[in-house]
Amino acid sequence: MEIRVDEFIQKYGLFLAITIPLFTYLGVAEFGLLAAFAQTLFLLFWSYAGHRWCHSPDMPLYAINPHIQIHHNHALELPRWLSLVFEAIVNLFGFTILLLFEWLIGVKFLSTWIVLASAFLYICMHILDYSIWPNPEHQLHHGKADCNYGPQFMDVLMDTRCDPKAPYDDFTLKIPHAIVSFFFAFALRENEITSKWIDSLFQK
Ligand SMILES: [Zn+2]
Ligand SMILES: [Zn+2]
Repeated sequence: MEIRVDEFIQKYGLFLAITIPLFTYLGVAEFGLLAAFAQTLFLLFWSYAGHRWCHSPDMPLYAINPHIQIHHNHALELPRWLSLVFEAIVNLFGFTILLLFEWLIGVKFLSTWIVLASAFLYICMHILDYSIWPNPEHQLHHGKADCNYGPQFMDVLMDTRCDPKAPYDDFTLKIPHAIVSFFFAFALRENEITSKWIDSLFQK
């Protein structure tokens, strides 16, 4: 399946053109422009790949992975608010696991603030766009679980859309999610109390 370049730029271009510089900015002071830029791209990739990895039965912890065993277990009927809160926590963990990994190996190669902004963006998108407002694309993911992992532009790039012929969603509508996520991470970084506390979590 080839990528429809014109439509790609039209639907995702503005979102990416705003999100990538904003998130990059969060890591520039600590890592420099190029590394912060690469980290931002990596985290957009991780938003997709981490989720896809969760769905592969050979991944460690598959049998107790809450995304699979709870979020994708449609027989389980949790109260709506509880399943949303729970999913947000699981989403956050999907990103903080990278910080945990850095802590374990003792090498800091990602900006905590880019990681957190990416986590907030993922949570915003999943809770608002997929759960609260039903999204047919994401419902297909829940139906088949081997396509439409999201974010959609990554499914397009990796050729994992459930319906590759379907038009691309307009991500311009998600720009506010990215701006709010950026400011949330930025505020945590700029506030002395929260930034010290978060740094201390991942320091040996
Ligand atoms: Zn879902
Ligand atoms: Zn899933």
